[in-house]
Amino acid sequence: MNAPQAKPANAAKPILEGIALRKHFAVETGLFQPKKPPVQAVNDVSLAVRHGETLALVGESGSGKSTLGRLLLNLLPATSGDVIYEGRNLGNLAPDKLRQVRRELQIIFQDPFASLNPRMSVEAIVGEPIWLHSSASRSERQDRVAQLLRTVGLAPEHGRRHPHEFSGGQRQRIGIARALASDPRLILGDEPVSALDVSVQAQVVNLLEDLKQQYGLTLLIVAHGLAVIRHMSDRVAVMYLGEIVELAPVNALFETPFHPYTQALMAAVPVSHPDQRQPRPLLAGDMPSPSRPPAGCRFHTRCPHAKALCREHKPLFESVAPERQVACHFWREIANAGSGALIIPTPSAAYRQRLDLFKRHQALPLESQP
Ligand code: SF4
Repeated sequence: MNAPQAKPANAAKPILEGIALRKHFAVETGLFQPKKPPVQAVNDVSLAVRHGETLALVGESGSGKSTLGRLLLNLLPATSGDVIYEGRNLGNLAPDKLRQVRRELQIIFQDPFASLNPRMSVEAIVGEPIWLHSSASRSERQDRVAQLLRTVGLAPEHGRRHPHEFSGGQRQRIGIARALASDPRLILGDEPVSALDVSVQAQVVNLLEDLKQQYGLTLLIVAHGLAVIRHMSDRVAVMYLGEIVELAPVNALFETPFHPYTQALMAAVPVSHPDQRQPRPLLAGDMPSPSRPPAGCRFHTRCPHAKALCREHKPLFESVAPERQVACHFWREIANAGSGALIIPTPSAAYRQRLDLFKRHQALPLESQP
C-alpha cells in the first residue's frame, strides 16, 4: 500500500485573505431627487482561502458572493477592508507587483460565450496572456497553446476556430485554458457551470478537479446552489444579504447544517430517493433589499425560528465547533432539534449572555417586546 502523501507544510495557511471587506455601491439619483442609501453588496466579511483547497461561496442571487469573489481577486476596489495575498496587502503593492499578482489570480466566468472575444481565434484568445506576459517566440506560444488545449480536453486544431463554432461546455474549456495560460495559483470560478447543461456540468467540474491536482491550484468557486459544489469543495461559506452566515467543511455542512438559511438551501438539493430528504423548511418570501437590510439578524424576515432577540441584536459570527463558524443566536437549539445524534459543544460566555438577554425579553409582557 502506498504511504499517505504528506500535506505541504503550508496546506492550512491562507493563500488569500479578506479582512473586514465591505463593498457598498452608491445609487445614482436625479439632480433634485433625495439621495438613496447605498447597496450593501458585501458587509464586513472576513474570510481566508487556504493553500490548495476548494472553497465554495454559496448563496442566492444578490447574496454578494460574486462581489466578494471579485473583491478578493482585486478586480473591484473595496469600500473598506484589506485583501492579503501570500502575506502581502494588495492595497500597498506597487503597480508592477500588482500586475504579477493579478496573473496569479485568475477568473473563469459564468457565461463562456460572453467572456470570449468572438472575433479572435481560439489560439489568439488562449495565447494572449502568454503574448502579454512573456517573451516567448511565436512558435513557442503556439506550442504552449496546443498543450493547454490538450490539457482541457480539446485538440490543437481547435485553435484555428472561433468561439461560436463550439458548444457551451467546449467554450468553458477554452476559458479555462486561457486562465491556465497565466500560470495561476488560484482560480475563481464565478458560477463556472451554471450556464451549462446538467450533463456537461459534471465534465467541467471533473476537469477543474483534475487541473487542481495537476497544477497544485487553489479554487474559489461561486455557486448559487449547494448541489454543484458538494463533490468538489473542501469548505463552504454560505452568504446571505452580503454577509457570511455559516462556514464549515463540506461534509459537516451537509450532515448537520447549523444555520436556518443553510438548512433551507439544503432542502433544495436534489436527493436520489425522496425518503432521504430531511424535513427542512423551504425559504419563504424574497430577500430584502441590500440597500435597506433588516436590523438585527439580516435573515429574521424569512427565518422560521426568528424571535424577538433576532430582530434587535445581530448575531456574532462565532466559532461553534472545530472548523465551524455560524451567525445565529439559536443555532444550538435548531441543530439539536434537527438531529438527536448531534454533539453540541459547551455554550460560550457570549452565547450565555445573549440567551439571558433573550429570556429577559421573553419575560416582558408581549406588548413591550421589540
Ligand atoms: Fe433565525 Fe434568529 Fe438565527 Fe437569525 S438569529 S437565523 S433570525 S434564529
